[in-house]
Amino acid sequence: MKRRDFIKTAGAGTLLTGAPALATAKTVHKWKMVTTWPKNFPGLGTGANNLARLITEMSDGRIRVKVYGAKELVPAFEVFGAVSQGTAEMGHGAAYYWKGKLEAAQFFSAVPFGLTADEMNGWLYYGGGMDLWRELYADFNLVPAAAGNTGVQMGGWFNKEINSLKDLQGLKMRMPGLGGEVLKRAGGTPVNLPGGELFTSLQSGAIDATEWVGPYNDLAFGLYKAAKYYYYPGWHEPGTTLEAIVNKKAFDALPKDLQSIVLNACKVVNQDMLAEYTARNNTALHTLITKHHVDLKQFPDEVLKKLRQISDEVVLELAQKNNTSKKIYDSFNRFRTQVVEWHKVSQQAFMRAREL
Ligand code: CA
Repeated sequence: MKRRDFIKTAGAGTLLTGAPALATAKTVHKWKMVTTWPKNFPGLGTGANNLARLITEMSDGRIRVKVYGAKELVPAFEVFGAVSQGTAEMGHGAAYYWKGKLEAAQFFSAVPFGLTADEMNGWLYYGGGMDLWRELYADFNLVPAAAGNTGVQMGGWFNKEINSLKDLQGLKMRMPGLGGEVLKRAGGTPVNLPGGELFTSLQSGAIDATEWVGPYNDLAFGLYKAAKYYYYPGWHEPGTTLEAIVNKKAFDALPKDLQSIVLNACKVVNQDMLAEYTARNNTALHTLITKHHVDLKQFPDEVLKKLRQISDEVVLELAQKNNTSKKIYDSFNRFRTQVVEWHKVSQQAFMRAREL
């Protein structure tokens, strides 16, 4: 009896003293987030910072995310591989940077003459896009999420006027993703460079022209000092989605509430970045024109029409490469066809009405 009492008491004691300790002790997941952006770069880099901060705050420190700029831990274009292999638990970049190893990924960042930011989000969240993206990345041990959008980008910085397609002949221009392929078919030479290398490459003449993002980011890089003309619209990137990628093993190791926090923090940043771009591009464009006297130019309709035709061919060819690409293209294209009809009578009609 005595022994049983002792065990009972000892057991109760352990429970009593152990319970509060168990409730307050938390498993802390220390995560590294590698990015394709220069550290703290406005919009893109700060978007990655926001994502890390939100995850840490929302989880009350149960996940602590430390952000690494491009080259700090791995070079910009090795983010995908680093997270896939588990060198870092998380990454922030854009899906078209991985076209060398996964061509179909480009559908989840930007398609020339494709979807705007609103439309991308519609397709991803409610049009089946997100499921296809997860499926595509599963083979790489990655969980993807939309985590930022730049809105419609600018056409780029040139040192000569673009009056016809001929002016693109032999032009060495930084342009990633499918837009680069279109440029190539139009006679140009596309180069893919990380953002941090654009200014010096353009200034030294290593490239003739470059696109980057829009007024806010282009002003920050000082691209106006290295080129004369600033062209619009960004036909090649109508609403580029930025991505967060999470190593699947690290994600699966989280309890359900933390998994939800990670994915919902991505959703917050996805919307927030677009709002920031809308607000800051306005003021930056004004600064570029009034303070730096940038020559703002619109691509001629004829040039855009031809680029549009080439784009359709390039995207269709990508779709025909394999079954996965075809499946993603079909979903993307079906959504696009429908949303174009809807936006003709909503956004487009309103934008026109506002100008009357
Ligand atoms: Ca761009």
